Amino acid sequence: MQIKTKGIILKELANGDDDKLLTILTEDRGVIFAYAKGARRFKNSLAASTGLLCYSSMVLFTNRERFSLDHADTIEQFFGLRQSVEKLALAAYFAEIASVLGPKENDGGQYLKLLLNSLFFLQNDRLPMELLKPLFELRSLSMAGFMPDLVACEGCGCYEAEQMAFYPVDGTICCGECSRKKAGIHIFLTKGTLAAMRHIIYSPIEKLFAFTIGSDSIKILNDTTERFLQSQTERNFQTLDFYRSLTALL
Ligand SMILES: [Zn+2]
Repeated sequence: MQIKTKGIILKELANGDDDKLLTILTEDRGVIFAYAKGARRFKNSLAASTGLLCYSSMVLFTNRERFSLDHADTIEQFFGLRQSVEKLALAAYFAEIASVLGPKENDGGQYLKLLLNSLFFLQNDRLPMELLKPLFELRSLSMAGFMPDLVACEGCGCYEAEQMAFYPVDGTICCGECSRKKAGIHIFLTKGTLAAMRHIIYSPIEKLFAFTIGSDSIKILNDTTERFLQSQTERNFQTLDFYRSLTALL
């Protein structure tokens, strides 16, 4: 059966001398694995459109669970991202998150929109990297069914207190008072951090990228969303280690 859709390459692996095995986030089928015959040959028509983060109109052929990519017309190659090692490293991290948390076997339209928007904002410096990173981590988790409950303190129901603690294992918040009675790893949030986290999970996508945060809250926000991602997925992300090694030098 032939499928026409749009998709972005999340991962490319060599398969033999000539072919590639691709992980693609598609508009219609979510995250799929597809073979691209001849895509490693320099002159092959698929060579350019099957690189990491290339976004294309695609013609796929499916036989049971196996997909092959027959044709791709490039829409966006994100050249701007490839001119900065740090940006490309963060974009590769987004791609790895998408390959883990992206929708499987169903509609990928909303999640594709999140990834494409994040890459455009990153490429065009529309939002700093240290804001895009927690935004993408937390929103991806929320869309994948790991939305934390940030409405109010789990113990007493207050919306905001002088101290608020986030519990990355169960994705809840507690005020300072209630956190003394609750065991488990927790991180104390600044008011700005909690406000930013609420914005990232509860705002509609049209308003999602419009946010700012005080410089004192940026590090806590990054540490918190990263810890939450690792707790929920129970894995490490190699691309994050690489991004961290680059930004540690800045
Ligand atoms: Zn409380």
